[in-house]
Amino acid sequence: MTNENSTSVSLDSHTKSNENIILALYEKKIYDLQQLIEISRSLCSTLEFSKLIESILYTCMGQFRVLGAGIFVLDALDSDLFELDSNYYGIDIDPNISYKISASSPLVKALSKRNSVFTLEQLEKALPNCSDLKILASLKPSLIVPLVHKSHLTGILFFAERIALTDDGEYSENEIEQILILSSLAAIAITNATLVERSATDMMTHLKLKYYFFNILTDKIEQAKEGAKNLSVIMFDIDFFKRFNDTYGHACGDYVLQTVAKIIESGIRGKDMAARYGGEEFTVLLNDTSKTDAMTVAERIRSKIEQFDFCYENQHVQVTISVGVSEYDAERNPVSPKELVEQADKALYISKRNGRNQVTFAEPGLIDEEKKND
Ligand code: GH3
Ligand code: MG
Ligand code: MG
Repeated sequence: MTNENSTSVSLDSHTKSNENIILALYEKKIYDLQQLIEISRSLCSTLEFSKLIESILYTCMGQFRVLGAGIFVLDALDSDLFELDSNYYGIDIDPNISYKISASSPLVKALSKRNSVFTLEQLEKALPNCSDLKILASLKPSLIVPLVHKSHLTGILFFAERIALTDDGEYSENEIEQILILSSLAAIAITNATLVERSATDMMTHLKLKYYFFNILTDKIEQAKEGAKNLSVIMFDIDFFKRFNDTYGHACGDYVLQTVAKIIESGIRGKDMAARYGGEEFTVLLNDTSKTDAMTVAERIRSKIEQFDFCYENQHVQVTISVGVSEYDAERNPVSPKELVEQADKALYISKRNGRNQVTFAEPGLIDEEKKND
């Protein structure tokens, strides 16, 4: 009797503890799924590229307890070169290594094939003589996670060492399952952000398009109003541009456009923005910048272009630009985005009329005169 009783008690407690284990497993699963829904929501609503990369890396580091993470993405919209993104965490970078991997590399081919994650050892076994793998190896990854969307590799994510745990530091099956879900979400988010970026970019010069420029200018003017800060707009137009097309052909015209765009882009800060406004016209938005500094920037770019040795198919061509500058000032010049650009355009027209290759500031009096003459 006593024996029977004790057997049923131990059976009961055995079933109970099994139930508790199953319950705990389900609770963990529900928690993981809730986390994934949150991550998915956050990644899919981030369309700005650098913020997205940051968000992917932070999520991975928090979720999978790794000391660092990085990601290789295509280095430009029409590029076929994967490059280590400048947002990376907890990784030692060797200045002598170029962290670039060609899209035609066997490594990229291997990573695009299956929906899997890899350890460095697995890849070294599969690709024994692959030089690109040495680039990855130098980063000492604990796991390599291809980001694949519709059989296209959109990025190569890698995790640094894991935070010391009581176990052996291996990724569990459950974690691998989560990493795979997260990698496909990240691949979709990168594809979306790339499409948005492409739709706002002029693919010939790689500068932003006019509509995007106006979107940002409108936001910045709102901020300037609230923060009582100034901002400036510069407008550039290449002088006698038609001549390059007519004398040396359209391809020469394209070369001049691309080179001018590069000079403009390299002459401004990261927080400013250059755009291709139209054919051979460019605009620049200078944040937190008032007249004097805007005139200095405009003059520096004008002079750089005048001095630059434009050489197309062994022909040296002289290129100059005419420039107009306007300043938004919440008190003295509280204009709309469209009016601010029109003022710069009017000033540019004065530069043209006065002999080209010069910079004019849109002084209110000058612009009123100009409007009367229209
Ligand atoms: P100005 O000094 O008065 O500005 O003279 P311009 O010849 O530069 O003036 P205009 O605005 O009349 O000429 C612009 C030319 O730019 C006309 C157009 O054929 C050419 N153009 C516009 N877009 C492109 C392009 O993408 N590539 C090339 N090669 N030419 C372009
Ligand atoms: Mg023009
Ligand atoms: Mg022109």
